[in-house]
Amino acid sequence: MTPLFKEILESSDYSHQQLIRLLSADEDERKLLFAKAAEIKNNFVGNKVYFRGLMEYSNICAKDCFYCGVRSGNKTISRYVMSDEEVMQAAVFAYEHHFASVVIQSGERFNKTFIRRIGKLVSDIKKMSDGKLGITLSMGEQTDETFRYWFESGAHRYLLRIESSDEDLYRKLHPDNKLHDYSRRLEALYALKREGFQVGTGVMIGLPFQSYDHLAKDLLFFKSLDIDMAGMGPYIEHENTPLWQYRDSLLPRQERFDLSLKMVALLRIMMKDINIAATTAMQAIDPQGREKAIKVGANVVMPNLTPLKYREDYLLYQDKPCIDEEADQCQRCLEARIHIAGAEIGWDDWGDSPHFAARLRKKLGENT
Ligand code: SAH
Ligand code: SF4
Repeated sequence: MTPLFKEILESSDYSHQQLIRLLSADEDERKLLFAKAAEIKNNFVGNKVYFRGLMEYSNICAKDCFYCGVRSGNKTISRYVMSDEEVMQAAVFAYEHHFASVVIQSGERFNKTFIRRIGKLVSDIKKMSDGKLGITLSMGEQTDETFRYWFESGAHRYLLRIESSDEDLYRKLHPDNKLHDYSRRLEALYALKREGFQVGTGVMIGLPFQSYDHLAKDLLFFKSLDIDMAGMGPYIEHENTPLWQYRDSLLPRQERFDLSLKMVALLRIMMKDINIAATTAMQAIDPQGREKAIKVGANVVMPNLTPLKYREDYLLYQDKPCIDEEADQCQRCLEARIHIAGAEIGWDDWGDSPHFAARLRKKLGENT
């Protein structure tokens, strides 16, 4: 190990060049990086892991992202929308099992019926739980008006990954049209902050054409956007997508996984008090992927509450784990995994990121 690595690691305000060096950490260096991230996690967000019950609401999507298995161009899957009853049942399950929060994720749609239905479901979940269930939405880019309507209906967090903060790389991953425009995505992230949401973003790791340079830029992007939450995971190829043609030029899966762990650890060091998810894609590569992510900085997991009959059709990528596990099995399995990772579960606790509270205090202070 070069002395320089240790010196760089001592700070937490890394430059682009330093991040590239840290991302290329070897086996021994990695241990130091992970130990530092674990210590910071314990000091700033504690040893608790929060559950967000995940509903994969619908795989109908207007977009055609080149990496995604549910893109509109994939004609081999059958399209579904969860019924209102199914959504409410999943919410009741989350509530009764003390999850404290749900995430409703979906393909992107813009018609009025869809938008109203989501707003209504959000307020129904709030009513059913006496305001106690926290609601996160992940429904892609919407207008300011829609974001405001959903916020006023009761959602308070929103996940919208930037996918890659580098505009050139972003263009290589999406069709060249208005619907898939980089500035539009960026603008949506700004709009979410303006509307008062706790904002989460993230990237896929190990994409074709992606380098350490891009990933270092992504980490600095998260910091400059001052995000409250992050969800990152390895890119996993899907045969019915345009990026499948690059499958032989990708990093081996294990390396994509290792790099994802380093990204989680570095982000924890750089943004000490945000929430970071241990994503399902981590577990798609390594059976202990989520535990490993928790050990190096993650503090949120999302047990899947989607009815079993839809799981096969929500394959964003292949080899997605847990597609045959009912909600209670999934919960038990995750509970065991969290305990193995030496962490505790934050039952009945929204587990909002301390970062958001600090951001709010700062904002209020500025306005008085
Ligand atoms: N439609 C919404 C939410 C659903 S997609 C949106 O796009 O924001 C949720 C996330 O799945 C995406 O942000 C993307 O980062 C991830 N994803 C899609 N295809 C993937 C793949 N092949 N490998 C890993 N993650 C993928
Ligand atoms: Fe649709 Fe999201 Fe998949 Fe893009 S990543 S095709 S927006 S579901």
